[in-house]
Amino acid sequence: MGTGKKVVAPRRGRASVEQESPSGSPTPMDIDEPEKVAPEDPVVRQPLEVGTKAPCMWRNAYHDCQIVERRKKPGTDTYEYYVHYSTFNRRLDEWVTFDKFEPKALVKAEKKRILREAASERAANASRAKNEKKKKDSKKRRTSAASGSVDGEKASTEKSIEEKEHEEATKVKNIQTVVIGCWAIDAWYYSPFPPEYSGYSTLYLCEFCLKFMRTQDALQRHCERCILRHPPGIEIYRKDNISMFEVDGATNRIYCQNLCYIAKLFLDHKTLYYDVDPFWFYIMCEVDDRGAHIVGYFSKEKFSEEDYNVACTSHSRRTSGVAMESF
Ligand SMILES: [Zn+2]
Repeated sequence: MGTGKKVVAPRRGRASVEQESPSGSPTPMDIDEPEKVAPEDPVVRQPLEVGTKAPCMWRNAYHDCQIVERRKKPGTDTYEYYVHYSTFNRRLDEWVTFDKFEPKALVKAEKKRILREAASERAANASRAKNEKKKKDSKKRRTSAASGSVDGEKASTEKSIEEKEHEEATKVKNIQTVVIGCWAIDAWYYSPFPPEYSGYSTLYLCEFCLKFMRTQDALQRHCERCILRHPPGIEIYRKDNISMFEVDGATNRIYCQNLCYIAKLFLDHKTLYYDVDPFWFYIMCEVDDRGAHIVGYFSKEKFSEEDYNVACTSHSRRTSGVAMESF
């Protein structure tokens, strides 16, 4: 330990180098360094960090937001950033490019990053020194309990980081648009579609069997073969051109699971129920001479101690969007 070098302030013409002292503990010079070396604006380093807060352009105005995730555009070295607007619902989270951020705010964020990295480095040095001291003390006492405790703390921290990373990953909307029948609907939230469908911002759905596909061509080929013209259940209600179908989750498992995947795109619940067997699904359709087109559904537990376990999802022709309720 105590051999690392680190460039702490990117500046034109020269760079300041922070040198750890042989003992690994910070020197007074280290502490004062970051404030003194940044009289000029630093160059904003790319890629921007996840967690960076800076206003971003949304409909011709800047709005406060935070970077939730970042990725390289396929086939390029250019990054794009998934942002959450602090005053908007999460359904408006979106991928943006670097030029959408307010430049002054990025400079400010860069200054903070430099200070934070310097502070983090000092804390790491102090922590390493403390751990070394602990180990030495532990050896002196010839007990294994102390070292076990240190390992335990480490494992606990690592698990917590993993959990955090998982939470971060699911924050990102993976599907941007679903095309179903003659509708293209913008998704609102993350839905855990199988991994082979991630990376496809648009999914194409057969409106009758709800099979989802990655390309329009695949959908076209599927439609030529698919024989369904209504949900795979019993029609239990009809008035004018509106029909309701009852579908058993146990006998039409794939259909109902697909329905749940699609519904999750519009619900901000943390969980998705893959076990659809215990549920009845009631699918509301608009009927025309081409078939019964799904416009909404609700589900109900077959056997529930509480008698109000119903979830409902629908899309509306009037709003050209999606209206959701869950209760
Ligand atoms: Zn189909």
